[in-house]
Amino acid sequence: MSWVDSHCHLDAAEFDADRDAVLAAARAAGVSMLVLPAVAVAGFDALIALAHRHGLAYALGIHPLYVDAAQDADLERLADALQARRNDPHLVAVGEIGLDFFVPGLDKARQERFYAAQLKLARAHGLPVILHVRRSADGLLKHLRRTEVAGGIAHAFNGSDAQALQFSQRGFRLGFGGAMTFERALQIRHLAATLPADVPVLETDAPDIAPQWLYVKAGEREQRPPSRNVPAELPRIGQTLAALRGWTQGETAARTAANTLAALPRMAALMSAGSA
Ligand SMILES: [Zn+2]
Repeated sequence: MSWVDSHCHLDAAEFDADRDAVLAAARAAGVSMLVLPAVAVAGFDALIALAHRHGLAYALGIHPLYVDAAQDADLERLADALQARRNDPHLVAVGEIGLDFFVPGLDKARQERFYAAQLKLARAHGLPVILHVRRSADGLLKHLRRTEVAGGIAHAFNGSDAQALQFSQRGFRLGFGGAMTFERALQIRHLAATLPADVPVLETDAPDIAPQWLYVKAGEREQRPPSRNVPAELPRIGQTLAALRGWTQGETAARTAANTLAALPRMAALMSAGSA
């Protein structure tokens, strides 16, 4: 069985002490491919080196939560990096980009400007995008109507049925991860259960979005720190999707891997190279 983690921040500082062991554990658990989205220009070189060292896929972009700290010139640096890497088979998308209207105090107009500019770069390079969606599905769709891109993945999706339909009609797959493992996540579980079979992809978003079995309640965090999510959790997260869909584990792994590949077609060359 071979799983694809369509969204993992393996370059995050949380993994500095044991990154290679975290990846080895993921591979031992059957996670054969990971997609590593960038969050800031300063991290591009390390991210690219990490993906190359381990045969993984990466995306380049400026995350909406990092837009306030970014400089305007970072958009040019992103454009240069995409140009320089245009023939790199490990580069599969522009991301992580998007809008976050949940976290208070962010400059909304600046987020929209960076998002719109990055969509244009994705279109210019014919690349799909990996989208961060938080209370922002309609805002994201508005820009996608203006700047049509080659689809991609709306990660950690938590929108309405109508919003999900609009993303899928634009060629997007929707990412499901730790949040889906909570029984109270009724809408996410409803979407995971009812979307057309070619729409869901699996992700950990490690080190974030710990699944239910790793979650530490706010009141308990003084006794033990919040658990770090790791890509080796993906097959167990996949069990939740399998149960919701009535799929076997093998079917779940195969379908979600195929859906990720359909969203990020450049990954195909990478995966056949890895298995050769
Ligand atoms: Zn992310």
